Amino acid sequence: MSHHCNSIKPTESNGSLSFANQKPRQWREKIDKRFTPKDVTESTILFGGMTILQDRLVMASLTHKDKRYIALPNPDFDAFRTGKAYGNRGQCNPTYFTVGNLVKYLQKLQEEKGMSSEEIVAKYVYVTANGCGPCRFGMYITEYRKALRDAGFEGFRLFSFEHNRVSDTEGGAHTLSFPPSFFIKPLKAVMIGDILNILTHQMRPYELEPGSTDKAIEQCYDIVADAFEQKRSLLPALRKCRKVLQSVKLDRLQVKPKVLIMGEFWAAMTEGDGNYNLHKFLESEGAECMPQPIMNRLLLSIWEGGYFFDKKRDFEEEDASGIDFGSMKVKLSLALVKRIFKGYFTLYARLLGLRGYTLPDIEKLAALGKQYFPLDVDGGEGHMEVSHLIESIEEKLAHLVISVKPFGCMPSSSVSDGIQSLVVSRYPSANFLSIETSGEGAANFYSRVQMALYKAKQAAKEETQSLPTPAEIPAKVQDYSYVPPSKKTGTAAKILECLTK
Ligand code: SF4
Repeated sequence: MSHHCNSIKPTESNGSLSFANQKPRQWREKIDKRFTPKDVTESTILFGGMTILQDRLVMASLTHKDKRYIALPNPDFDAFRTGKAYGNRGQCNPTYFTVGNLVKYLQKLQEEKGMSSEEIVAKYVYVTANGCGPCRFGMYITEYRKALRDAGFEGFRLFSFEHNRVSDTEGGAHTLSFPPSFFIKPLKAVMIGDILNILTHQMRPYELEPGSTDKAIEQCYDIVADAFEQKRSLLPALRKCRKVLQSVKLDRLQVKPKVLIMGEFWAAMTEGDGNYNLHKFLESEGAECMPQPIMNRLLLSIWEGGYFFDKKRDFEEEDASGIDFGSMKVKLSLALVKRIFKGYFTLYARLLGLRGYTLPDIEKLAALGKQYFPLDVDGGEGHMEVSHLIESIEEKLAHLVISVKPFGCMPSSSVSDGIQSLVVSRYPSANFLSIETSGEGAANFYSRVQMALYKAKQAAKEETQSLPTPAEIPAKVQDYSYVPPSKKTGTAAKILECLTK
Protein backbone atom coordinates (compact mmCIF):
# COMPACT_ATOMS: atom_id res chain seq x y z
CA MET A 1 0.00 0.00 0.00
CA SER A 2 2.83 2.39 0.71
CA HIS A 3 3.33 3.29 -2.95
CA HIS A 4 -0.35 4.24 -3.16
CA CYS A 5 -0.06 6.65 -0.26
CA ASN A 6 3.22 8.10 -1.52
CA SER A 7 1.70 8.87 -4.88
CA ILE A 8 -1.17 10.93 -3.46
CA LYS A 9 -0.93 14.50 -4.68
CA PRO A 10 -2.43 16.93 -2.19
CA THR A 11 -4.90 19.24 -3.91
CA GLU A 12 -3.79 22.85 -4.23
CA SER A 13 -6.39 24.11 -1.82
CA ASN A 14 -5.35 21.72 0.97
CA GLY A 15 -4.86 23.66 4.17
CA SER A 16 -6.15 26.87 2.63
CA LEU A 17 -8.45 28.86 4.91
CA SER A 18 -9.30 31.39 2.23
CA PHE A 19 -12.96 30.41 2.43
CA ALA A 20 -13.23 32.01 5.89
CA ASN A 21 -15.21 35.27 5.96
CA GLN A 22 -16.44 34.70 2.39
CA LYS A 23 -20.08 34.72 1.37
CA PRO A 24 -21.43 31.21 0.70
CA ARG A 25 -21.69 30.47 -3.02
CA GLN A 26 -22.81 27.59 -5.16
CA TRP A 27 -20.10 24.94 -5.48
CA ARG A 28 -19.45 23.76 -9.01
CA GLU A 29 -17.19 20.97 -9.99
CA LYS A 30 -14.36 22.11 -12.22
CA ILE A 31 -13.81 19.96 -15.28
CA ASP A 32 -10.68 21.10 -17.09
CA LYS A 33 -11.05 19.34 -20.38
CA ARG A 34 -14.20 18.53 -22.35
CA PHE A 35 -14.51 15.57 -24.62
CA THR A 36 -16.34 14.95 -27.82
CA PRO A 37 -18.23 11.78 -28.71
CA LYS A 38 -15.47 11.04 -31.22
CA ASP A 39 -12.90 10.80 -28.42
CA VAL A 40 -15.07 8.21 -26.77
CA THR A 41 -15.75 6.07 -29.81
CA GLU A 42 -12.02 5.62 -30.13
CA SER A 43 -11.44 4.66 -26.50
CA THR A 44 -11.62 1.48 -24.48
CA ILE A 45 -14.75 1.56 -22.33
CA LEU A 46 -14.51 0.26 -18.76
CA PHE A 47 -17.57 -0.57 -16.68
CA GLY A 48 -18.61 -2.84 -13.78
CA GLY A 49 -20.49 -2.97 -10.50
CA MET A 50 -22.95 -5.83 -11.01
CA THR A 51 -22.48 -9.47 -10.06
CA ILE A 52 -19.41 -11.16 -11.57
CA LEU A 53 -21.51 -13.23 -13.99
CA GLN A 54 -23.57 -10.23 -15.11
CA ASP A 55 -20.53 -8.04 -15.75
CA ARG A 56 -19.03 -10.81 -17.87
CA LEU A 57 -22.27 -11.47 -19.77
CA VAL A 58 -22.75 -7.77 -20.50
CA MET A 59 -19.16 -7.65 -21.77
CA ALA A 60 -19.91 -10.62 -24.06
CA SER A 61 -23.14 -8.98 -25.27
CA LEU A 62 -21.23 -5.85 -26.32
CA THR A 63 -18.21 -7.63 -27.70
CA HIS A 64 -20.05 -8.59 -30.87
CA LYS A 65 -19.92 -4.91 -31.75
CA ASP A 66 -16.22 -4.54 -30.93
CA LYS A 67 -13.68 -5.57 -28.34
CA ARG A 68 -13.38 -2.25 -26.57
CA TYR A 69 -15.73 -3.00 -23.66
CA ILE A 70 -14.02 -4.31 -20.53
CA ALA A 71 -15.72 -5.25 -17.25
CA LEU A 72 -13.57 -4.43 -14.22
CA PRO A 73 -12.78 -7.30 -11.85
CA ASN A 74 -14.87 -7.79 -8.70
CA PRO A 75 -13.85 -5.18 -6.07
CA ASP A 76 -11.79 -6.64 -3.19
CA PHE A 77 -10.27 -5.30 0.06
CA ASP A 78 -7.31 -3.95 -1.84
CA ALA A 79 -9.72 -1.88 -3.97
CA PHE A 80 -11.39 -0.67 -0.75
CA ARG A 81 -8.04 0.39 0.74
CA THR A 82 -7.12 2.16 -2.50
CA GLY A 83 -10.48 3.97 -2.43
CA LYS A 84 -9.90 5.05 1.17
CA ALA A 85 -6.41 6.26 0.40
CA TYR A 86 -7.56 8.53 -2.42
CA GLY A 87 -11.15 9.32 -1.42
CA ASN A 88 -12.71 11.88 0.88
CA ARG A 89 -13.43 10.95 4.49
CA GLY A 90 -16.91 9.86 5.54
CA GLN A 91 -18.05 8.18 2.34
CA CYS A 92 -20.09 4.98 2.37
CA ASN A 93 -18.10 1.90 1.52
CA PRO A 94 -19.55 1.16 -1.96
CA THR A 95 -17.88 4.44 -2.95
CA TYR A 96 -14.52 3.27 -1.61
CA PHE A 97 -14.85 -0.18 -3.17
CA THR A 98 -15.94 1.00 -6.62
CA VAL A 99 -13.75 4.12 -6.88
CA GLY A 100 -10.76 2.19 -5.52
CA ASN A 101 -11.44 -0.63 -7.96
CA LEU A 102 -11.09 1.72 -10.94
CA VAL A 103 -7.93 3.38 -9.56
CA LYS A 104 -6.45 -0.05 -8.81
CA TYR A 105 -7.21 -1.24 -12.34
CA LEU A 106 -5.53 1.79 -13.88
CA GLN A 107 -2.50 1.42 -11.60
CA LYS A 108 -2.24 -2.19 -12.71
CA LEU A 109 -2.19 -1.04 -16.34
CA GLN A 110 0.77 1.16 -15.43
CA GLU A 111 2.59 -1.62 -13.60
CA GLU A 112 1.88 -4.53 -15.92
CA LYS A 113 1.67 -2.88 -19.34
CA GLY A 114 4.08 -0.07 -18.60
CA MET A 115 1.54 2.53 -19.78
CA SER A 116 1.99 6.14 -18.73
CA SER A 117 -0.81 8.07 -17.01
CA GLU A 118 -1.21 10.26 -20.11
CA GLU A 119 -1.63 7.21 -22.33
CA ILE A 120 -4.23 5.72 -19.98
CA VAL A 121 -6.16 9.00 -19.79
CA ALA A 122 -6.14 9.22 -23.59
CA LYS A 123 -7.19 5.62 -24.23
CA TYR A 124 -9.66 4.69 -21.47
CA VAL A 125 -13.12 5.86 -20.41
CA TYR A 126 -15.23 4.69 -17.46
CA VAL A 127 -19.02 4.43 -17.64
CA THR A 128 -21.03 4.12 -14.45
CA ALA A 129 -24.52 4.64 -13.05
CA ASN A 130 -25.18 7.94 -11.34
CA GLY A 131 -28.05 9.61 -9.57
CA CYS A 132 -28.87 12.85 -7.86
CA GLY A 133 -28.91 11.36 -4.39
CA PRO A 134 -30.48 12.22 -2.01
CA CYS A 135 -27.77 10.13 -0.33
CA ARG A 136 -24.09 9.98 -1.22
CA PHE A 137 -24.96 8.38 -4.55
CA GLY A 138 -25.21 11.90 -5.95
CA MET A 139 -21.52 12.48 -5.18
CA TYR A 140 -20.07 9.32 -6.72
CA ILE A 141 -18.83 10.97 -9.90
CA THR A 142 -17.15 13.74 -7.92
CA GLU A 143 -15.50 11.08 -5.77
CA TYR A 144 -14.23 9.28 -8.85
CA ARG A 145 -12.81 12.51 -10.18
CA LYS A 146 -11.08 13.42 -6.92
CA ALA A 147 -9.54 9.99 -6.44
CA LEU A 148 -8.38 9.77 -10.06
CA ARG A 149 -6.84 13.24 -9.89
CA ASP A 150 -5.01 12.46 -6.65
CA ALA A 151 -3.81 9.14 -8.05
CA GLY A 152 -2.23 10.91 -11.01
CA PHE A 153 -4.94 10.37 -13.64
CA GLU A 154 -5.95 14.01 -14.04
CA GLY A 155 -8.56 14.43 -16.79
CA PHE A 156 -9.62 10.78 -16.87
CA ARG A 157 -12.97 10.63 -18.69
CA LEU A 158 -16.03 9.53 -16.72
CA PHE A 159 -19.45 9.10 -18.20
CA SER A 160 -22.60 8.30 -16.30
CA PHE A 161 -25.87 6.72 -17.30
CA GLU A 162 -28.94 8.86 -17.56
CA HIS A 163 -31.82 6.85 -18.93
CA ASN A 164 -31.00 6.20 -22.60
CA ARG A 165 -27.99 8.42 -22.89
CA VAL A 166 -24.58 8.70 -21.43
CA SER A 167 -23.31 12.13 -20.55
CA ASP A 168 -20.13 13.56 -19.17
CA THR A 169 -22.07 14.58 -16.08
CA GLU A 170 -21.86 18.34 -16.30
CA GLY A 171 -25.13 19.56 -17.67
CA GLY A 172 -25.03 17.09 -20.52
CA ALA A 173 -23.18 19.52 -22.82
CA HIS A 174 -21.46 16.54 -24.33
CA THR A 175 -23.83 13.68 -24.51
CA LEU A 176 -23.26 10.38 -26.19
CA SER A 177 -26.56 9.33 -27.61
CA PHE A 178 -26.88 5.60 -27.93
CA PRO A 179 -29.95 4.36 -29.79
CA PRO A 180 -32.33 2.37 -27.52
CA SER A 181 -31.35 -0.75 -29.52
CA PHE A 182 -27.83 -0.45 -28.04
CA PHE A 183 -29.20 -1.39 -24.62
CA ILE A 184 -31.22 -4.44 -25.70
CA LYS A 185 -28.41 -7.00 -25.61
CA PRO A 186 -26.86 -5.78 -22.35
CA LEU A 187 -30.32 -5.84 -20.77
CA LYS A 188 -30.84 -9.41 -21.94
CA ALA A 189 -27.44 -10.27 -20.49
CA VAL A 190 -28.46 -8.78 -17.12
CA MET A 191 -31.70 -10.81 -17.12
CA ILE A 192 -29.99 -14.08 -18.01
CA GLY A 193 -27.37 -13.32 -15.35
CA ASP A 194 -30.13 -12.74 -12.77
CA ILE A 195 -31.75 -16.08 -13.60
CA LEU A 196 -28.48 -18.02 -13.55
CA ASN A 197 -27.55 -16.37 -10.23
CA ILE A 198 -30.90 -17.37 -8.69
CA LEU A 199 -30.47 -20.93 -9.97
CA THR A 200 -26.91 -21.07 -8.59
CA HIS A 201 -28.22 -20.23 -5.13
CA GLN A 202 -31.06 -22.75 -5.42
CA MET A 203 -28.76 -25.57 -6.53
CA ARG A 204 -25.32 -25.13 -4.95
CA PRO A 205 -26.35 -25.80 -1.32
CA TYR A 206 -27.76 -29.19 -2.39
CA GLU A 207 -25.05 -30.36 -4.81
CA LEU A 208 -23.63 -33.82 -4.16
CA GLU A 209 -20.30 -33.10 -5.77
CA PRO A 210 -18.71 -29.90 -4.44
CA GLY A 211 -18.03 -27.40 -7.21
CA SER A 212 -20.35 -29.05 -9.76
CA THR A 213 -22.88 -26.17 -9.79
CA ASP A 214 -20.22 -23.51 -10.36
CA LYS A 215 -18.74 -25.65 -13.12
CA ALA A 216 -22.14 -26.00 -14.83
CA ILE A 217 -22.82 -22.26 -14.53
CA GLU A 218 -19.44 -21.58 -16.12
CA GLN A 219 -20.42 -23.82 -19.03
CA CYS A 220 -23.70 -21.91 -19.31
CA TYR A 221 -21.71 -18.67 -19.42
CA ASP A 222 -19.64 -20.04 -22.32
CA ILE A 223 -22.78 -21.09 -24.22
CA VAL A 224 -24.56 -17.73 -23.77
CA ALA A 225 -21.42 -15.65 -24.39
CA ASP A 226 -20.80 -17.61 -27.58
CA ALA A 227 -24.38 -16.96 -28.77
CA PHE A 228 -23.92 -13.23 -28.12
CA GLU A 229 -20.54 -13.08 -29.81
CA GLN A 230 -21.65 -15.07 -32.86
CA LYS A 231 -24.91 -13.06 -33.04
CA ARG A 232 -26.96 -16.25 -32.78
CA SER A 233 -30.41 -16.62 -31.22
CA LEU A 234 -30.33 -16.91 -27.45
CA LEU A 235 -33.25 -19.31 -27.20
CA PRO A 236 -31.48 -22.52 -28.31
CA ALA A 237 -28.48 -21.47 -26.19
CA LEU A 238 -30.68 -21.24 -23.09
CA ARG A 239 -32.22 -24.67 -23.82
CA LYS A 240 -28.70 -26.06 -24.04
CA CYS A 241 -27.85 -24.49 -20.67
CA ARG A 242 -30.82 -26.26 -19.14
CA LYS A 243 -29.36 -29.64 -20.13
CA VAL A 244 -26.02 -28.66 -18.58
CA LEU A 245 -27.72 -27.65 -15.33
CA GLN A 246 -29.72 -30.88 -15.25
CA SER A 247 -26.46 -32.86 -15.14
CA VAL A 248 -25.67 -31.50 -11.65
CA LYS A 249 -26.56 -34.16 -9.07
CA LEU A 250 -28.52 -32.78 -6.10
CA ASP A 251 -29.94 -33.96 -2.80
CA ARG A 252 -32.76 -31.48 -2.32
CA LEU A 253 -34.12 -33.19 0.78
CA GLN A 254 -31.33 -31.82 2.95
CA VAL A 255 -32.94 -29.54 5.52
CA LYS A 256 -31.60 -26.01 5.08
CA PRO A 257 -32.92 -22.64 6.24
CA LYS A 258 -33.81 -20.16 3.51
CA VAL A 259 -32.22 -16.75 3.93
CA LEU A 260 -33.52 -13.74 2.02
CA ILE A 261 -30.73 -11.24 1.41
CA MET A 262 -31.80 -7.68 0.78
CA GLY A 263 -30.82 -4.18 1.88
CA GLU A 264 -28.78 -1.51 0.14
CA PHE A 265 -28.49 -2.47 -3.52
CA TRP A 266 -24.72 -2.78 -3.88
CA ALA A 267 -24.00 -4.24 -0.45
CA ALA A 268 -26.66 -6.91 -0.89
CA MET A 269 -25.66 -7.80 -4.44
CA THR A 270 -21.87 -7.78 -4.51
CA GLU A 271 -20.21 -11.16 -4.24
CA GLY A 272 -16.92 -10.54 -2.56
CA ASP A 273 -15.17 -8.54 0.14
CA GLY A 274 -17.80 -5.78 -0.20
CA ASN A 275 -20.14 -7.86 1.99
CA TYR A 276 -17.55 -10.31 3.37
CA ASN A 277 -18.69 -12.92 0.85
CA LEU A 278 -22.02 -13.13 2.64
CA HIS A 279 -23.69 -15.53 0.20
CA LYS A 280 -20.84 -18.04 0.27
CA PHE A 281 -20.51 -17.71 4.06
CA LEU A 282 -24.20 -18.49 4.55
CA GLU A 283 -23.93 -21.51 2.26
CA SER A 284 -20.87 -22.78 4.13
CA GLU A 285 -22.94 -22.52 7.32
CA GLY A 286 -25.67 -24.71 5.80
CA ALA A 287 -28.15 -22.15 4.43
CA GLU A 288 -29.84 -21.56 1.07
CA CYS A 289 -29.68 -17.91 -0.01
CA MET A 290 -32.31 -15.96 -1.90
CA PRO A 291 -30.53 -13.08 -3.64
CA GLN A 292 -32.27 -10.00 -5.01
CA PRO A 293 -32.07 -9.85 -8.80
CA ILE A 294 -30.97 -6.62 -10.48
CA MET A 295 -34.30 -6.69 -12.32
CA ASN A 296 -35.99 -5.81 -9.02
CA ARG A 297 -34.03 -2.56 -8.92
CA LEU A 298 -34.91 -1.78 -12.54
CA LEU A 299 -38.60 -2.41 -11.86
CA LEU A 300 -38.40 -0.16 -8.80
CA SER A 301 -36.85 2.59 -10.95
CA ILE A 302 -39.72 2.27 -13.45
CA TRP A 303 -42.23 2.45 -10.59
CA GLU A 304 -40.45 5.52 -9.16
CA GLY A 305 -40.50 7.12 -12.63
CA GLY A 306 -44.30 6.80 -12.76
CA TYR A 307 -44.90 7.73 -9.12
CA PHE A 308 -42.82 10.90 -9.11
CA PHE A 309 -44.07 11.85 -12.54
CA ASP A 310 -47.63 11.85 -11.16
CA LYS A 311 -46.52 13.85 -8.13
CA LYS A 312 -44.89 16.49 -10.30
CA ARG A 313 -47.91 16.69 -12.55
CA ASP A 314 -50.11 17.44 -9.54
CA PHE A 315 -48.25 20.74 -9.22
CA GLU A 316 -48.57 21.66 -12.86
CA GLU A 317 -51.56 22.95 -14.72
CA GLU A 318 -53.49 20.63 -16.96
CA ASP A 319 -53.85 21.73 -20.58
CA ALA A 320 -56.99 23.48 -21.83
CA SER A 321 -58.69 20.36 -23.17
CA GLY A 322 -58.31 18.61 -19.82
CA ILE A 323 -56.59 15.66 -21.46
CA ASP A 324 -52.87 15.57 -20.93
CA PHE A 325 -51.55 13.59 -23.91
CA GLY A 326 -47.92 14.08 -22.87
CA SER A 327 -48.57 12.40 -19.53
CA MET A 328 -50.47 9.56 -21.13
CA LYS A 329 -47.50 8.91 -23.40
CA VAL A 330 -45.07 8.77 -20.50
CA LYS A 331 -47.33 6.45 -18.50
CA LEU A 332 -47.90 4.16 -21.46
CA SER A 333 -44.18 3.98 -22.23
CA LEU A 334 -43.37 3.04 -18.62
CA ALA A 335 -46.08 0.37 -18.61
CA LEU A 336 -44.78 -1.00 -21.92
CA VAL A 337 -41.16 -1.15 -20.74
CA LYS A 338 -42.30 -3.01 -17.61
CA ARG A 339 -44.27 -5.49 -19.68
CA ILE A 340 -41.37 -6.13 -22.02
CA PHE A 341 -38.97 -6.68 -19.10
CA LYS A 342 -41.33 -9.10 -17.40
CA GLY A 343 -42.12 -10.89 -20.67
CA TYR A 344 -38.46 -11.53 -21.50
CA PHE A 345 -37.64 -12.53 -17.94
CA THR A 346 -40.48 -15.07 -17.89
CA LEU A 347 -39.44 -16.52 -21.25
CA TYR A 348 -35.76 -16.85 -20.29
CA ALA A 349 -36.66 -18.26 -16.86
CA ARG A 350 -38.81 -20.94 -18.48
CA LEU A 351 -36.08 -21.94 -20.93
CA LEU A 352 -33.44 -22.11 -18.20
CA GLY A 353 -35.70 -24.14 -15.91
CA LEU A 354 -36.34 -21.54 -13.21
CA ARG A 355 -39.80 -22.53 -11.98
CA GLY A 356 -42.10 -21.06 -9.35
CA TYR A 357 -40.34 -17.71 -9.49
CA THR A 358 -41.88 -14.42 -10.51
CA LEU A 359 -40.45 -10.94 -10.49
CA PRO A 360 -41.94 -8.87 -7.67
CA ASP A 361 -45.23 -7.10 -8.04
CA ILE A 362 -43.92 -3.59 -7.33
CA GLU A 363 -47.40 -2.08 -6.85
CA LYS A 364 -48.24 -4.74 -4.28
CA LEU A 365 -44.94 -4.09 -2.46
CA ALA A 366 -45.64 -0.35 -2.43
CA ALA A 367 -49.07 -1.02 -0.92
CA LEU A 368 -47.51 -3.24 1.75
CA GLY A 369 -44.83 -0.72 2.70
CA LYS A 370 -47.00 2.38 2.52
CA GLN A 371 -48.46 2.13 6.01
CA TYR A 372 -44.97 2.22 7.52
CA PHE A 373 -42.83 4.10 5.02
CA PRO A 374 -43.93 7.27 3.15
CA LEU A 375 -43.65 6.46 -0.55
CA ASP A 376 -42.55 10.03 -1.28
CA VAL A 377 -39.24 9.33 0.45
CA ASP A 378 -36.78 7.98 -2.06
CA GLY A 379 -33.03 7.38 -2.07
CA GLY A 380 -31.35 4.00 -1.77
CA GLU A 381 -34.03 1.33 -1.97
CA GLY A 382 -36.78 3.68 -0.78
CA HIS A 383 -39.63 1.78 0.87
CA MET A 384 -38.54 -1.56 -0.63
CA GLU A 385 -36.60 -2.91 2.36
CA VAL A 386 -39.64 -2.49 4.58
CA SER A 387 -41.95 -3.95 1.92
CA HIS A 388 -39.71 -6.97 1.35
CA LEU A 389 -39.60 -7.75 5.07
CA ILE A 390 -43.40 -7.53 5.46
CA GLU A 391 -43.97 -9.66 2.35
CA SER A 392 -41.49 -12.30 3.44
CA ILE A 393 -43.11 -12.58 6.88
CA GLU A 394 -46.69 -12.62 5.63
CA GLU A 395 -45.98 -15.10 2.84
CA LYS A 396 -43.43 -17.15 4.77
CA LEU A 397 -40.80 -16.74 2.07
CA ALA A 398 -37.74 -17.21 4.28
CA HIS A 399 -36.60 -18.48 7.69
CA LEU A 400 -34.35 -15.45 8.06
CA VAL A 401 -34.25 -12.03 6.39
CA ILE A 402 -30.89 -10.26 6.36
CA SER A 403 -30.76 -6.61 5.44
CA VAL A 404 -27.18 -5.76 4.60
CA LYS A 405 -25.99 -2.21 4.32
CA PRO A 406 -22.74 -0.27 4.27
CA PHE A 407 -21.75 1.40 7.53
CA GLY A 408 -23.54 4.72 7.85
CA CYS A 409 -25.75 4.26 4.78
CA MET A 410 -28.32 7.03 5.08
CA PRO A 411 -31.40 5.47 3.41
CA SER A 412 -30.80 1.94 4.69
CA SER A 413 -29.37 2.32 8.23
CA SER A 414 -30.87 5.63 9.20
CA VAL A 415 -34.32 5.46 7.63
CA SER A 416 -35.33 1.88 6.75
CA ASP A 417 -33.87 0.27 9.88
CA GLY A 418 -35.60 2.81 12.11
CA ILE A 419 -38.90 1.70 10.58
CA GLN A 420 -38.00 -2.02 10.57
CA SER A 421 -37.94 -1.96 14.38
CA LEU A 422 -41.64 -1.06 14.30
CA VAL A 423 -42.37 -3.77 11.71
CA VAL A 424 -40.58 -6.38 13.81
CA SER A 425 -42.45 -5.30 16.96
CA ARG A 426 -45.74 -5.88 15.11
CA TYR A 427 -44.64 -9.25 13.71
CA PRO A 428 -43.02 -11.03 16.66
CA SER A 429 -42.46 -14.19 14.60
CA ALA A 430 -40.01 -12.35 12.29
CA ASN A 431 -36.40 -13.47 12.24
CA PHE A 432 -34.75 -10.30 10.96
CA LEU A 433 -31.14 -9.22 11.06
CA SER A 434 -29.94 -5.82 9.98
CA ILE A 435 -26.20 -5.82 9.53
CA GLU A 436 -23.64 -3.26 8.48
CA THR A 437 -20.50 -3.82 6.46
CA SER A 438 -17.69 -1.40 7.11
CA GLY A 439 -15.03 -3.00 4.97
CA GLU A 440 -13.38 -4.01 8.26
CA GLY A 441 -14.41 -6.17 11.22
CA ALA A 442 -15.51 -9.36 9.47
CA ALA A 443 -15.42 -11.44 12.70
CA ASN A 444 -18.18 -9.40 14.33
CA PHE A 445 -20.24 -9.54 11.14
CA TYR A 446 -19.97 -13.33 10.86
CA SER A 447 -20.80 -13.95 14.50
CA ARG A 448 -24.02 -11.91 14.28
CA VAL A 449 -25.03 -13.77 11.11
CA GLN A 450 -24.32 -17.12 12.82
CA MET A 451 -26.53 -16.20 15.78
CA ALA A 452 -29.49 -15.31 13.55
CA LEU A 453 -28.86 -18.40 11.46
CA TYR A 454 -29.10 -20.66 14.51
CA LYS A 455 -32.74 -19.62 14.99
CA ALA A 456 -33.41 -20.07 11.25
CA LYS A 457 -31.95 -23.59 11.32
CA GLN A 458 -34.24 -24.52 14.20
CA ALA A 459 -37.25 -23.18 12.31
CA ALA A 460 -36.31 -25.12 9.15
CA LYS A 461 -35.88 -28.31 11.19
CA GLU A 462 -39.20 -27.93 13.00
CA GLU A 463 -41.00 -27.22 9.72
CA THR A 464 -39.69 -30.46 8.17
CA GLN A 465 -40.13 -32.59 11.29
CA SER A 466 -43.80 -31.73 11.40
CA LEU A 467 -44.32 -33.52 8.07
CA PRO A 468 -44.81 -37.29 7.66
CA THR A 469 -42.06 -39.27 5.92
CA PRO A 470 -43.10 -40.41 2.43
CA ALA A 471 -42.97 -44.12 1.59
CA GLU A 472 -41.04 -43.49 -1.58
CA ILE A 473 -39.00 -40.61 -3.00
CA PRO A 474 -39.45 -40.25 -6.79
CA ALA A 475 -36.35 -39.24 -8.78
CA LYS A 476 -38.08 -36.15 -10.23
CA VAL A 477 -37.78 -34.27 -6.93
CA GLN A 478 -34.01 -34.04 -7.42
CA ASP A 479 -34.45 -32.10 -10.66
CA TYR A 480 -33.60 -28.48 -9.90
CA SER A 481 -36.60 -27.27 -11.91
CA TYR A 482 -39.12 -29.32 -9.91
CA VAL A 483 -40.89 -26.80 -7.67
CA PRO A 484 -44.07 -28.22 -6.14
CA PRO A 485 -46.90 -25.85 -5.22
CA SER A 486 -46.59 -25.49 -1.46
CA LYS A 487 -46.92 -22.82 1.19
CA LYS A 488 -43.98 -24.21 3.16
CA THR A 489 -40.76 -22.19 3.30
CA GLY A 490 -37.85 -24.63 2.99
CA THR A 491 -37.02 -26.54 -0.19
CA ALA A 492 -37.12 -29.95 1.54
CA ALA A 493 -40.37 -29.10 3.34
CA LYS A 494 -42.04 -28.04 0.09
CA ILE A 495 -41.10 -31.33 -1.56
CA LEU A 496 -42.06 -33.49 1.44
CA GLU A 497 -45.42 -31.79 1.81
CA CYS A 498 -46.31 -32.50 -1.80
CA LEU A 499 -45.16 -36.12 -1.60
CA THR A 500 -47.27 -36.83 1.47
CA LYS A 501 -50.43 -34.94 0.53
S1 SF4 B 1 -27.76 4.03 -0.54
FE1 SF4 B 1 -26.34 4.12 1.19
S2 SF4 B 1 -24.54 2.99 0.54
FE2 SF4 B 1 -25.73 3.43 -1.30
S3 SF4 B 1 -24.85 5.38 -2.04
FE3 SF4 B 1 -26.56 5.94 -0.72
S4 SF4 B 1 -25.63 6.26 1.34
FE4 SF4 B 1 -24.15 5.14 0.06
